[in-house]
Amino acid sequence: MNIDELKTKLLNPDAKVLLLSHKNPDGDTIGAALALYHIFSQMNIATKLLVPNAFPDFLKWMPGAEKFIVAMEHQKDANQAIAEATLFFFVDFNNYERIDFISKEVGKNNAPKVLIDHHPNPDSFFDFAMSDVKVSSTSELIYSFIEKMEFLDKLNKQVAECLFTGIMTDTGCFSHNSSRPETFETTAHLLKTGIDKNKIYDRVYNNFSESRMRLLGYALYEKMVVLPKYHTAYFSFSAEELKKFNFQLGDEEGMVNYLLAVKGVLFTIIIIEKKSYVKMSFRSKGLFPANYIAKRYFHGGGHLNAAGGKSYKSLKETIEKLQTVLKDDKTIQKYF
Ligand code: 5GP
Ligand code: MN
Repeated sequence: MNIDELKTKLLNPDAKVLLLSHKNPDGDTIGAALALYHIFSQMNIATKLLVPNAFPDFLKWMPGAEKFIVAMEHQKDANQAIAEATLFFFVDFNNYERIDFISKEVGKNNAPKVLIDHHPNPDSFFDFAMSDVKVSSTSELIYSFIEKMEFLDKLNKQVAECLFTGIMTDTGCFSHNSSRPETFETTAHLLKTGIDKNKIYDRVYNNFSESRMRLLGYALYEKMVVLPKYHTAYFSFSAEELKKFNFQLGDEEGMVNYLLAVKGVLFTIIIIEKKSYVKMSFRSKGLFPANYIAKRYFHGGGHLNAAGGKSYKSLKETIEKLQTVLKDDKTIQKYF
């Protein structure tokens, strides 16, 4: 499908668009999908938003956030939206794994699938793809998409707030993945709509509970493990520790990044004991491939410098496995 065919499909009066965000959603997948939602709604295109599980508090303020169908909570509505869709958008992910338990239903509907994403190694089943790992965020790609589709006249404040949030969160407030001038050109255009950048920052980053801040203090003081030989640092938390700090969805956000501030550290991990698995987030500096470790050893993947994964072993065994990987993996030795 080329861009004109996509446009025709989209503008068909019977079109039913379904925008899909990935599991454990972040600011980019939510911001990018909501931006498309606001554009399409202005054009009277029937559009729904679907995400596998609930999203964190710090994204709930986003314009249109309440329109998302959270599949885990509303399975019937989710299945109906999937079954009736005539066009799917995969936003900020590029394979079925990232939509977890809804992937089976989505796979049953043969309607065209559009990909807008910036992760490496996209699957090949898409009918139309805008996929570029060089771009800061999917939200930045959405801007290019609406430009290409000639929908830029629909870029209002709501759309700009959503896209700005996506770019800001995926670049850690323009501290990484943001060296391309185009990222700032796009951002400049978003600011011209009159959005309040400082307010958006405040809503996203100054929104932690007191107990989460104390968890961070506990983490830095008591739980930080630095392995100088492997230029690695990590935190790990048992379910019991998390309970003590009243841990909520999204509370881990940003914590793994603090470890990168330790002199000499190139690779950082946060390891969190969940009910049925152990969740891991990886960050790295320079060419150290965090996504390689996530994919090869921990059922995950992601970007070179920001990746995620999980382990089905106990917390203790997961940490032991990590240490063994650091010691034995040949690919990463050259970065130490
Ligand atoms: P976070 O640590 O913020 O949860 O995730 C960082 C990045 O890693 C995300 O932007 C996403 O690209 C990737 N990621 C996180 N979890 C997974 C996973 O389970 N599978 C894959 N393929 N990528 C993941
Ligand atoms: Mn992203």
